[in-house]
Amino acid sequence: MKTVISLDDLTSARTALTGTVGLVPTMGYLHEGHLSLIRLAKVECESVVVSIFVNPTQFGANEDLSKYPRDLERDLRLIEPLGVDLVWIPTPGIMYPTGYQTWVEVDAITHPLEGSVRPTHFKGVATIVAKLFNAVQPHKAYFGQKDGQQAAVIRQMTRDLNFPVDVVVCPTVREVDGLAMSSRNKYLEGADRKAATVLFHALSAAKTAYEGGERKADVLRGKMKEVLASEPRAMVQYVSCADYDSLEELDLIQGKTLLSMAVILGKTRLIDNFVLG
Ligand code: AMP
Repeated sequence: MKTVISLDDLTSARTALTGTVGLVPTMGYLHEGHLSLIRLAKVECESVVVSIFVNPTQFGANEDLSKYPRDLERDLRLIEPLGVDLVWIPTPGIMYPTGYQTWVEVDAITHPLEGSVRPTHFKGVATIVAKLFNAVQPHKAYFGQKDGQQAAVIRQMTRDLNFPVDVVVCPTVREVDGLAMSSRNKYLEGADRKAATVLFHALSAAKTAYEGGERKADVLRGKMKEVLASEPRAMVQYVSCADYDSLEELDLIQGKTLLSMAVILGKTRLIDNFVLG
């Protein structure tokens, strides 16, 4: 496993890779969710590149950039046995050198949900993913359904900008009690960790109603809100039942649908989603 930092070293190491190249972009502090993407990339591609970069431009001014958990040694220990060929760990100065001024903005689908609470977030995400695609030139790139809107934005951007990259979205990996794995779960302590399962229970309640034949989006949103309201520690930011691709809120469920939510527990902000249909 080769580890590189500079763009020049990345470029020469990339040139040496053969066959289908799969890229798994991460912000580090890896868990089973990240490892599941790497494992799938290993199955589907001859060469696998993992990037580890806590991208400052996707954090808002009042967000947790300086406190975002990092442990590079542990990350490399976790990746090594998976047979990854190349790990790129650029610095902020490499990705955004002095004088940097070019941004990728995806329009309508970045406005609702996460975009309504984190207005600059997807500009940072789309820009860094475009830069990673250009630098690594992967044939395939692997993202988690855990960040459902992010996956939709990246699919849209890839299509709109004609990146010759096959975007693969992998299922959300969960703890045994249903909590979606996330680097930020580290912040959850005691009662907040226990309360965090409320997102999974709320999504499950809506899914059960859907499986029972319910197709009114408002009823499913109501089910999710009802379960979330039963947890006094949970501060709800949004609850959504939207079209899977456009992310527009639905009246009636007909095709593939994204149930999603953002909830604050103590100092930790959690997001989760289920896909229906
Ligand atoms: P992050 O390091 O949080 O930026 O995540 C890197 C990639 O891993 C993103 O594509 C995430 O959607 C994905 N990911 C994060 N958590 C999970 C999870 N629990 N299950 C599957 N994929 C995940």
